[in-house]
Amino acid sequence: MSRVLHRAGAGPALAVSGTGSWITLASGAQVLDGAGGAAVACIGHGNRRVGAAIADQAARISYLHSAFFTSTPAEELADLLVESGGGAFARAFFVSSGSESVESALKLARQYHVERGAPSRSHVIARRQSYHGNTFGALSASGHPARRAIYEPMLMSGFSHVSPCQAYRYRPEGLSDADWVAHLAAELEAEITGVGADRVAAFVAETVVGATSGCTPAVPGYFRAMRAVCDRHGVLLVLDEIMSGMGRTGRLHAWQDEGVTPDIQTVAKGLGGGYVPIGAMLAAPKVVEALAAGSGAFVHGHTYQAHPLAARGALEVQRIIAEEDLVGRVARMAPALRARIETRLGDHPHVGDIRGRGFFLGLEFVADRATKAPFAPQTGFATLVKDAALARGLAIYPGSGTIDGTRGDHVIVAPPFTATEDELDQICERLALAVADATALLPG
Ligand code: PMP
Repeated sequence: MSRVLHRAGAGPALAVSGTGSWITLASGAQVLDGAGGAAVACIGHGNRRVGAAIADQAARISYLHSAFFTSTPAEELADLLVESGGGAFARAFFVSSGSESVESALKLARQYHVERGAPSRSHVIARRQSYHGNTFGALSASGHPARRAIYEPMLMSGFSHVSPCQAYRYRPEGLSDADWVAHLAAELEAEITGVGADRVAAFVAETVVGATSGCTPAVPGYFRAMRAVCDRHGVLLVLDEIMSGMGRTGRLHAWQDEGVTPDIQTVAKGLGGGYVPIGAMLAAPKVVEALAAGSGAFVHGHTYQAHPLAARGALEVQRIIAEEDLVGRVARMAPALRARIETRLGDHPHVGDIRGRGFFLGLEFVADRATKAPFAPQTGFATLVKDAALARGLAIYPGSGTIDGTRGDHVIVAPPFTATEDELDQICERLALAVADATALLPG
């Protein structure tokens, strides 16, 4: 019996090793990692070079407290990330998870305004159908009713939510991209002025929405319009790229396709590729300057921040990605991956939408394609697909969002950037079989 407190009651399968896109179970079965866990394992499993770098760092020094010391790997990783922004960022702040990165971003946004003499700016606007993490601050920002519900009275106040930019579900019939963007920008502006512009600290959004809606990019022009609204009211734009960032979409940063730069950005999963628990918050020059001109330091920190072992592991992962041009590889191979999924599942009666960018693709399942009606919550269709896929030796990430108060089902396809053509083909093949298996389980 497992004594680990698992998220799934019964406890998951025991895995013992991994190589490339494959995970080996204690039973000897091989599972193809079609989602890199939850869009984490970007260079696959068992990379010896990363293992050697981590071992080397552990032998040198694995821990330093950031109040006294910094380390070469943390400095080099910060250089790499700051330079990757092309001027968008001035500093990187390292933590151990995505949620910590979002917490840090919320606190930095708050401190920025306090340093600038606007202490009333504490309110954060996020979007419905969003996920920013499980700690109380990050969960308060998340528009994810299922994960919030049980903790409701303890969630923080000072958060509100506007509409998501999810075209398949929410774009009113017949509206052009431009008109819809104008409508959403007006909604954000009304929310800011309704709360009081002098009270709003930040607008937080995932550049491509992951866990709550299954890889949904915004329509063209959306982020430019939101950026303009934020600028008009002195509100910071925080982009959460914990799932969609670090190359997953075929660009190092997903915002590079949006024509905007964030004031604060969060990254995590792909940063360490699963070899180490690490997240980062990247801060724009204007935010860093406000701190420098004010109290001089970020009033926030963790014992394990900028952990040398984590930084060294992530640095090696990022070096491999750069040397092997794996982000370029994702961009080049993504159209074929998507086409394979569309060929196999595009006409399936329960696949309502296939979307995403790069190696970050989502399939939304519906009870009825014509009406887009979701399955009843008790059907748990995405979980049926996940279980059927696992039985066929494929790990695929399921999720459920909220569609007008009901549950929606999707799965995320997020293979390692290193997956071979044949592995990508097998992912699509096994996924199609799993969807058929799940469909066969539907009542009458
Ligand atoms: N933000 C986003 C966009 C995420 O996808 C996640 C994790 N799924 C988080 C934040 C939280 O990250 P973590 O689970 O590492 O705390």
